[in-house]
Amino acid sequence: MSMTPTTTPPAPKDKGVAADEAASVIDTSKMNEGQRAALEMTEAARETQERRSIAGGLFMGVCDLRSVFPFPEQNPHDREQGEAFLERLEKFLRERVDADEIDRTGEIPDDVIEELGRMGAFGIKIPTQYSGLGLSQTNYSRAAMLLGSHDASLTALISAHQSIGVPQPLLMFGTDEQKKKFLPRVAKGEISAFALTESGVGSDPAAMTTRAVPTGDGKYFVINGEKLWCTNGVKAGVIVVMAQTPPKVVNGREKKQVTAFIVEMDTPGIDVLHRCHFMGLKALYNGVVRFKDVVVPRENIIWGEGKGLRVALSTLNTGRLTLPAACAGASKRCLRIVRKWAKERVQWGANIGRHAAVADKIARMAANTFAMESMTLLVASMVDKDKKADIRLEAAIAKMWGTEKAWQIVDDTMQLRGGRGYETADSLKARGEDPVPVERFMRDCRINTIFEGSSEIMRLFIAREMLDPHLKVSGAVLDSRKPLGERMKAALKAGGFYARWYPKQWLPLGAGMPDGVPSNLRHHLRFASRTTRQLARRLFHAMIKHGPKLEREQVLLGRFVDIGAELFAMMATCARASSLAREGTEEQRKDVVQLADYFCQSARLRIAELFRGLGRNTDRQGYKLAQSVLNSQLKPLVDGIVHGEQ
Ligand SMILES: Cc1cc2nc3c(=O)[nH]c(=O)nc-3n(C[C@H](O)[C@H](O)[C@H](O)COP(=O)(O)OP(=O)(O)OC[C@H]3O[C@@H](n4cnc5c(N)ncnc54)[C@H](O)[C@@H]3O)c2cc1C
Repeated sequence: MSMTPTTTPPAPKDKGVAADEAASVIDTSKMNEGQRAALEMTEAARETQERRSIAGGLFMGVCDLRSVFPFPEQNPHDREQGEAFLERLEKFLRERVDADEIDRTGEIPDDVIEELGRMGAFGIKIPTQYSGLGLSQTNYSRAAMLLGSHDASLTALISAHQSIGVPQPLLMFGTDEQKKKFLPRVAKGEISAFALTESGVGSDPAAMTTRAVPTGDGKYFVINGEKLWCTNGVKAGVIVVMAQTPPKVVNGREKKQVTAFIVEMDTPGIDVLHRCHFMGLKALYNGVVRFKDVVVPRENIIWGEGKGLRVALSTLNTGRLTLPAACAGASKRCLRIVRKWAKERVQWGANIGRHAAVADKIARMAANTFAMESMTLLVASMVDKDKKADIRLEAAIAKMWGTEKAWQIVDDTMQLRGGRGYETADSLKARGEDPVPVERFMRDCRINTIFEGSSEIMRLFIAREMLDPHLKVSGAVLDSRKPLGERMKAALKAGGFYARWYPKQWLPLGAGMPDGVPSNLRHHLRFASRTTRQLARRLFHAMIKHGPKLEREQVLLGRFVDIGAELFAMMATCARASSLAREGTEEQRKDVVQLADYFCQSARLRIAELFRGLGRNTDRQGYKLAQSVLNSQLKPLVDGIVHGEQ
């Protein structure tokens, strides 16, 4: 294999930088109190260890094909172990789980939950020594895909329990005692949950009001507060609760502390006040949970006092991989529906699949589904290869990109099913038609771009990480809080860095072509390599143009993020297609290359559009207009409708 050496982002090293120090790379002096508090808190919770990141490299001009080629195969032992469980799960879902009934009644039958517990579905990744199945992230993702293709309420139950509930944070940060005490319980089917959100705390944890105050002897904490939308909260035996503990004084300033507690739901003082109901996920056991003088032992703190937000963010880094996996399952199901329908439905003298406007949608659905699964499996394999791998950006991209594309796929499915797409499965059945549940899939799918990090927050998160190498090099230069001398020194250092880095972004270096890439895909990889450097240059230019104000240009930053996401999707797709093209018949080989080729062509068009938008856009004008809409009564927009309703 010939490979031009590539390097990971040439950012300065900051091994083990303290959170406060890391936070200091952003000038918060011109922010209002709420903005500063939110930013300082999330900055303090950021992972600061400098580690290799494939997606991070893309924003610094490094397209590291070696890290995705050859596409990582699941190791045969792991596959074999997973297969037995996955086959059982598939059969159980197919034969015993009536997803329309669950949607209709808003309840998951007890025997379904019990059987899932018996087969180990609540402890897929929990090691066998704690009574779990001890399976890999890849097998877990494959299980999420199966669940996502069948029943979203069940997917949410298993995912909230396992990806964000007690198992994941304990596996990552739990003490031996905590693992011994809680993991066997949750592995065998005791349901768990995660409670962060409050009425005033959605995307902004700095506004948290739930408090945990230590008792006089320091052995216990007393929790008071109310958590909103706690999935599984209605049925859980044990949950993870985020609460503010007494602030720490750092450099003479009080710093808010958030701590993660394991809380037994039968502790006196806990009440589930309300079971929430939603547009979809009708059988979600989601509730408002009130804590009134709830006493929790200190040993139930996860990782340490004040580390709660880091627990939450780190848990979510891996946890949010469940969503693109489930979305890939739902998307494959949509494709199956559309494949059948587009071949049998005849309108205007032809199968609708023969009409170009329909075929266009089917091609897009297929290509995006393949890319979504490729990204999910790639990131899962990174977790399996190295538990400490830095997958923050890759998982966030997979979540953001996957959930947005899945929504588009469900929307296209509904469009192609026409009126039948909009009709409920029950109604279709009652008049003798196939009860195809597109309407349910659409209701269930919509939440995915909102929870576990909304798309907007994912873009901000990725943008923050994308700018990090630059902030470390030049943040101090622009920081008005720092003395002039320090800023000058920083400017010299930054000048040295950019004098070496920037010219490289213009060099016509190609990433060395890995072996075994089908010829139709090679030019896409060359494009990805070139475009990575273009992305890095344009980001640098935007930093020069906007200076510290770039942070406020959310829409502009979003375009950079989206270009990086498309490039990452292209890499994953080409790598997986190259690997699949080595297997199967000539026909299958052609099919998979055609799929990846189409995906890359489409991604390139999207990338071109995003680059155009960096220079010519309506961002400023749009922002101003939005403020006018919010602050004045634009008469034509308010007249002619019923008064007084929301
Ligand atoms: C069905 C369901 C299940 C859930 N399960 C759980 C659970 O198990 N545990 C739990 O703790 N929480 C849970 N949640 C909460 C969920 O994670 C939040 O809804 C989510 O974090 C968004 O918060 P919010 O709804 O308050 O929106 P807000 O934070 O109020 O945001 C409103 C809108 O503004 C955007 N926005 C916010 N801040 C910014 C910004 N700085 N820049 C740009 N845009 C911004 C958001 O993206 C969103 O579009 C659940 C919610 C639902 C609906």
